[in-house]
Amino acid sequence: MPKKIYIRTFGCQMNERDSEFIAGLFLEKGYTLADSPDDADIVLFNTCSVREHAEHRAISNMGALLKIAHRKPITDKRKPKIFGIVGCMAQAMGNKLFQRLPGLDMVCGTGEIAKLPELAQKAQEKKMLATGNADKFILSRSPYYREKKDHAYVSIMRGCNNFCSYCIVPHVRGKERSRPVPDIVNEVKDIVANGIRNITLLGQNVNSYKTHDTRHKTHVFGFIDLLKEINNIDGVEKISFMTSHPKDAGIELFEAMRDLDKINRHLHLPLQSGSDRILKLMNRGYTRKKYLSLVKKAREIVPDLRLTTDIIIGFPTETGKDFNDTLSLMKEVEFNLAYIFKYSPRAGTKAARLKDDVPEATKSQRHKTLLDLQRGLYEKNNHIFINR
Ligand code: SF4
Repeated sequence: MPKKIYIRTFGCQMNERDSEFIAGLFLEKGYTLADSPDDADIVLFNTCSVREHAEHRAISNMGALLKIAHRKPITDKRKPKIFGIVGCMAQAMGNKLFQRLPGLDMVCGTGEIAKLPELAQKAQEKKMLATGNADKFILSRSPYYREKKDHAYVSIMRGCNNFCSYCIVPHVRGKERSRPVPDIVNEVKDIVANGIRNITLLGQNVNSYKTHDTRHKTHVFGFIDLLKEINNIDGVEKISFMTSHPKDAGIELFEAMRDLDKINRHLHLPLQSGSDRILKLMNRGYTRKKYLSLVKKAREIVPDLRLTTDIIIGFPTETGKDFNDTLSLMKEVEFNLAYIFKYSPRAGTKAARLKDDVPEATKSQRHKTLLDLQRGLYEKNNHIFINR
């Protein structure tokens, strides 16, 4: 019987794509995919470090699985399983995970996922820790496995150079690096050949995608060039992308969204806060005024634009006035959708040195106020998308 692997993914679309990559590696080695941890020889959690809540969930879920596995006697029918934690949390916590979860066999960071089949093999003999390479690894080779049959994620870059003060991503995924154009184009063609016509290009900040066009050696090949290249691939029907940073998105992008026939008219433009003082503390690199003018330009150029955002409430020192600035900006912009999160400090980030001084009750109340507002806006503005 072939061995089976079970992978559970926490966090963002990048992690979903990494999990597909990992599944593809194991499938190439002759494994099959298990529907549940019970049924698997290897159990991997691909984890997220962006918020404390996601970390707690991964640790407590893995702890529960380890408890059950170690309680059951090993029989001929029931061989010992390998349990591993992979991805951002593995990168951030490393060895500490073995202390938190003594039954764990393997910890593999973001830069070593290509070695997972080999690590899993070795983990049968001893505990394996692999957290190097986070600054270098890129999904350059893509073993073919796609979880969805009607849509595919394509990772075009990895890492981030922005160091927003609250964010752990540059610490766990390393510096920004863009994937070569031929690699991306070949992957998209492969996806189309497998019958999928709807793709989403992924990067922490897609607008800073940059590489060299090997056909014209001096030409820097940016994100807009990449959109045009993919728009020309036969068989692709819809191209989405995320995430755009407001400091790097601009008129050129909006014009490409208007002019290229396959681009989905959806822009995810994380605001994070409507207060200039908080934006500065967050190291976001734009002001409220710049954000508003960007939205105005985007809507002028792409009239049927669908605009979504991320917001963090309760960042250290956030006052009632700062919060009202966010509230008023949301009322003014009327986003189609907003993902609203309560701030939680991430060890190792600059913001973690600030006192997390907004009381939990205040965070909850501000969170609710924004959610209520957004629900109303959602109903008001999204009816135009019915049947589209
Ligand atoms: S742009 Fe900022 S929030 Fe986004 S991944 Fe980079 S550091 Fe994190």
